[in-house]
Amino acid sequence: MLQCTAFTELPEMGARVALMGLAGGPGRGSEAPDLDEFLLCELGEHDEGVEHAAQLWSASARAGRDLWMFWADADGRRKFRFTELLPCPAVIHRLSVRDGDACVLYDRHPAAHSWDVTDPLADLMAERIREDVRRDRDRDGGGGRTP
Ligand SMILES: [Zn+2]
Ligand SMILES: [Zn+2]
Repeated sequence: MLQCTAFTELPEMGARVALMGLAGGPGRGSEAPDLDEFLLCELGEHDEGVEHAAQLWSASARAGRDLWMFWADADGRRKFRFTELLPCPAVIHRLSVRDGDACVLYDRHPAAHSWDVTDPLADLMAERIREDVRRDRDRDGGGGRTP
């Protein structure tokens, strides 16, 4: 499943207020984290009726709640809301990984778990690199093969 390609400009005031109200969050003043100007939706491709979602703050405590920002466009206006949510409890165990990968999304998120979501940009980069490698190999070691 591909990642949703929606992104939004961060409503900075709203985000700072939400962070300040966060229990165990970064607090005020110098502790406040640098926030990205733009945020990408972290969900897999989803229906239009589902809000886009981006994580603003990750709780350091194991069972802590992360701060998520949701947004949706309605009637030509973009609406934001901030919510503290528990992390998705799902963990995938691959043969090669002893500890398993935890899903980085929130509990009861729509669409696929994060390990099934591929970023199309990252895939594009990987494909470019593969092509470069193939080209190098053909140039250097291609002489031994019969055409
Ligand atoms: Zn989205
Ligand atoms: Zn999940």
